Amino acid sequence: CGIFAYLNYHVPRTRREILEILLKGLLRLEYRGYDSAGVGIDGGNSKEWEANARSIQLIKQSGKVKALDDELTKQQDMDMDVEFDVHLGIAHTRWATHGAPSPVNSHPQRSDKSNEFIVIHNGIITNYKDLQKFLESKGYEFESETDTETIAKLVKYMYDNRESEDLSFATLVERVTQQLEGAFVLVFKSVHYPGEAVGTRRGGPLLIGVKSDHKLSTDHIPILYRSSGKDKKGCPTLPRMEQDTCHTLFAEEKKSVEYYFASDASAVIEHTNRVIFLEDDDVAAVTAGRLTIHRIKRTAGDHPARAIQTLQ
Ligand code: GLU
Repeated sequence: CGIFAYLNYHVPRTRREILEILLKGLLRLEYRGYDSAGVGIDGGNSKEWEANARSIQLIKQSGKVKALDDELTKQQDMDMDVEFDVHLGIAHTRWATHGAPSPVNSHPQRSDKSNEFIVIHNGIITNYKDLQKFLESKGYEFESETDTETIAKLVKYMYDNRESEDLSFATLVERVTQQLEGAFVLVFKSVHYPGEAVGTRRGGPLLIGVKSDHKLSTDHIPILYRSSGKDKKGCPTLPRMEQDTCHTLFAEEKKSVEYYFASDASAVIEHTNRVIFLEDDDVAAVTAGRLTIHRIKRTAGDHPARAIQTLQ
């Protein structure tokens, strides 16, 4: 099972190129084992990337990544030559734990029929039955047998019931993870947050590769938050402030940059050797090309500041 996501920020890429990068990423993760695969990308064929990001297209298949590739070539309504200045694509190989291998059980899982939120997940949500019961009581109808679908629906439920209009994607995901029990690596994409990615982990691996031709600040900028939490650097503000640590990386605006989220460094090494390994309870968000990593809960012991590592 594996996770791969690719975000290009002011690096123009055609849909064909984006899909190639995503599928190649999945192929590099094949050795981990899987029974199905899927991708989630922007659906529109406009020249405006933001207009395209208002709809999400899911392509999912059981079997090999090759079967997914074949399925992609059948997609008539997607113009492969459309260029995206900014785009997030997420891709997944599934090793089924809840629900047989099938297209509907493959990931990304979705919040609703119009794909407002989609998520890819490695791991198991042990309290998914309780979450499902709760969501069904709120009128949600489930289409798959996976534990993961509860996450996709929970994020929409929390978004629809948000108390303020400017809730950040990262804070939304933090709230969702606070409801989850079990082990998970997650990456989210949403039509409500065009060009933004949020990834998090608890009990599984996730790293982020960073690539840019610009001179970026390769040193992290650690910011220790205290309760007032005025958020100048784009970090989410949370109730448990004194325990939170927030790091913003590459805080230069409008510089072209590419991010690769992956389960394993072998999937990003062909693109970049600059990677950040996330730790448990880290929430990593890319907003306006800027990567922010925020640890939502401090576990025992000291956490050294995350640093960019150069792979050998
Ligand atoms: N528990 C999830 C499912 O069965 C994810 C499995 C995986 O890690 O690939 O769909």
